[in-house]
Amino acid sequence: MQLVNASPDSFEEVNESYTMKEAIKEAKRCLHCKSPQCRTGCPINNEIPDWIHELALGNLGNAIQIINTRSNLPAVCGRVCAHERQCEGHCILGKKGQAMNIGKLERFVADFDAQMGLHHEGLVQKNRGRIAVIGSGPAGLTIAGDMARQGFQVEIFEMEPEPGGVLMFGIPEYRLPKDVVRHEVERIKALGAIFHCNTTVGIDLTIDDLFDQGFDAIFMGTGTGKPRKLDIPGCDLKGVEQAIYFLRLASLFNAQSIKREEVPVAAGQRVFVVGCGNTAMDASRTAIRMGAKSVEIIYHRTMAEMSALRAEYEDAVKEHVAFNWQTQLTAIQGEDGHVTSIELTTPSGTRREEADVVILAVGQRPASRIVKTAKGIEVDDRGYVITRDLPFGMTTRNGVFAGGDVVRHPATVVHAMQNAKAVAEGMIRYVDAIKLLEAIS
Ligand SMILES: Cc1cc2nc3c(=O)[nH]c(=O)nc-3n(C[C@H](O)[C@H](O)[C@H](O)COP(=O)(O)OP(=O)(O)OC[C@H]3O[C@@H](n4cnc5c(N)ncnc54)[C@H](O)[C@@H]3O)c2cc1C
Ligand code: SF4
Repeated sequence: MQLVNASPDSFEEVNESYTMKEAIKEAKRCLHCKSPQCRTGCPINNEIPDWIHELALGNLGNAIQIINTRSNLPAVCGRVCAHERQCEGHCILGKKGQAMNIGKLERFVADFDAQMGLHHEGLVQKNRGRIAVIGSGPAGLTIAGDMARQGFQVEIFEMEPEPGGVLMFGIPEYRLPKDVVRHEVERIKALGAIFHCNTTVGIDLTIDDLFDQGFDAIFMGTGTGKPRKLDIPGCDLKGVEQAIYFLRLASLFNAQSIKREEVPVAAGQRVFVVGCGNTAMDASRTAIRMGAKSVEIIYHRTMAEMSALRAEYEDAVKEHVAFNWQTQLTAIQGEDGHVTSIELTTPSGTRREEADVVILAVGQRPASRIVKTAKGIEVDDRGYVITRDLPFGMTTRNGVFAGGDVVRHPATVVHAMQNAKAVAEGMIRYVDAIKLLEAIS
């Protein structure tokens, strides 16, 4: 494995795109299988062979049109989906040789569309009902896109200053440039959806206020924004940070919205990251880019048990992130209120390491702002919203639906989209039914 130096303060995208010639050459390898396993492997059943076929013929407008029938976020999925576990993992060509590079091809088509403006969808008349969407991550954006296309007036309420959820404030710029996310949001705006940012439901307004404003149904796609803490001595010292807050601040710094010193990793610091999922990989690689002297992961299990994608792990190793397997953080020590060292425990004993920053990436759960300020929305003992199958995605309160990570537990972009697509169908049935009842009563 070749080691690379991720230069401090450089968040340029790390993976390169195809040229047109390379994309068409790759597309021509596709066998256009009669029963395509790539499509089965895709959680949203993207019509992969059909758009690859159009790409192979050089018909990029047709290719993006086909992709749009299933996905609202192709430029995102092309970059951050676990293709090796999904479409590419199922591609027949991978059985004996090299699977089709479907993710990179999807990214190529979506980026080409963004640059050339190939495809314009007609505005559908919005006369089937009004939908409020809370949260603009992959779940909220999917509901907005699917329902706007079906003739619903959609308004999205987002507490952050910009839409996108984890796509905008979690996944770092070097994996998912923020202009790519902004372009996906613009495509949804172009369908007629209206965004209200800096608006927190549960603080600025409630579920009841939204019904009073005349919305026929409400979707909660609020994700899992509340990080888990560790119950060990020293967690309240300065220098102990939550990964999702650190990543958010690094994103804001990249967008020039905050100053460098507001990001809690300074040049030359020794950083330890606790956890071994994708959030831990992103936090480690971001700490490297912020100029940390060393970055080490602490994980209590073995490499085989980590939840991070293999490719993410390999990229972290290439960028000099070190890994402490079967190691537990058992205490954090400090002086004058600031972290100075940590205690690590392994099967062979306990040791102390000097440290400046400890970043926690040990899981997240839903915040309770909305359910605390609205009656009748039940959650389980960890705060996940309970939904039913009929109509699909409705909570225990009539007219309020939920989907994505706030229901399914932290998952992936495409699984949040998959779930939201099914909830959109449930919401459409529900609103059509109440409109029909209103008309005949
Ligand atoms: C650091 C990180 C890296 C990841 N990397 C990948 C990856 O590479 N590939 C992948 O497939 N998945 C990845 N994931 C997981 C993926 O991002 C999530 O599964 C997905 O974003 C969930 O979508 P969602 O729409 O349910 O929630 P979110 O994306 O969390 O969006 C929820 C939105 O709701 C808003 N909100 C919350 N409460 C309120 C409120 N009361 N009022 C108004 N707005 C509110 C939030 O601000 C946010 O915008 C990653 C996650 C993290 C944290
Ligand atoms: S399984 Fe592979 S070869 Fe077959 S249609 Fe899908 S991408 Fe093409």
